[in-house]
Amino acid sequence: MRSLITGGAGFIGSHLTEHLLGLGHEVVVLDDLSTGSEHNLATVRDDPRLRFVRGSVCDPDAVERCMDGVTAVYHLAAAVGVFTILDKPLESLRTNLAGTETVLEAARRHDVPILVASTSEVYGKNTTAGLSEEDDRIVGSPLKSRWSYAEAKALDETLAYLYHVEHGIPTVIVRLFNTVGPRQTGRYGMVIPRFVQQALTGAPVTVFGDGQQVRCFCHVLDVVPALVALLADETAHGAVYNLGNAEQITISALAGKIIEATGSHSEIVKIPYTEAYGDGYEDMQRRVPDCTKARDRVGFRPHHTLEDIIRAVIKDRRPAT
Ligand code: NAD
Repeated sequence: MRSLITGGAGFIGSHLTEHLLGLGHEVVVLDDLSTGSEHNLATVRDDPRLRFVRGSVCDPDAVERCMDGVTAVYHLAAAVGVFTILDKPLESLRTNLAGTETVLEAARRHDVPILVASTSEVYGKNTTAGLSEEDDRIVGSPLKSRWSYAEAKALDETLAYLYHVEHGIPTVIVRLFNTVGPRQTGRYGMVIPRFVQQALTGAPVTVFGDGQQVRCFCHVLDVVPALVALLADETAHGAVYNLGNAEQITISALAGKIIEATGSHSEIVKIPYTEAYGDGYEDMQRRVPDCTKARDRVGFRPHHTLEDIIRAVIKDRRPAT
């Protein structure tokens, strides 16, 4: 078994790389290191079954060079994080649209099963408690950069689905809800590593908006085996699956929990969205998954609690003494 992981030097991709090597697979990682890092692959760097290729998923030649002997593709490469999308809207859109089509086209040519990582962002402002795969999308204006990530990922889903329907390529789409754990960086807008970093350094923990937004967080080590199980299961192909944890918490309560867990004296400071992200930013009040479909198909059930996640991120971020 040889898997290609696009974005394999990123947060989720590096855990998936370790997992597949642990299962005895060979792994090819294609990553342009824009938000990822070779350091994320430090534990497996010397494994002869790992090949790292620095290049872009938007470059068909680079993708083609990675396809030799590949039996499964995990397409995780994307421009990720609110700050990235707002900073480089056009480049992000191109990566998230053209990159996915390039990788799907390579999978079609080589007739290889492919998993495409989508996101709970596609549900937009739908605040149903327990979003299921059939629920409607409620998104803002296409001229607001904030929604371009959701728009691109939604089109990626349609592309992946049509490659399945029209070309018979085995595809699986996963909608990841907030996924957290060691190696995730807060630099691009991810809330838990950002709060942990602030608390560990005694800086104010900055909550954007009123802090009453409800979110759910899933440990990356709960998500990764489900990616592999879904792609390996022929009956899962041609469909979309939510993957997340349904344990809910407000962002203010999360900040308090992290301050307590780090033993920090940081204060919580609320910052208006306009100050954090500029004018016109829209957030959603609640984002909670219903993962019944993935549970019924491959037994997906998150085992890590929010406390486990916070402990793991603190351990990862605390400077060694
Ligand atoms: P990440 O930023 O750590 O990983 C993305 C990786 O893709 C990085 O290593 C980056 O360098 C690479 N990349 C970006 N553009 C590229 C390009 N043009 N060519 C090659 N590589 C490129 O983020 P992550 O959290 O690990 O996200 C992985 C996937 O999961 C993404 O598709 C993301 O949209 C999706 N996702 C993540 C979350 C989450 O909470 N972490 C939630 C929903 C969806």
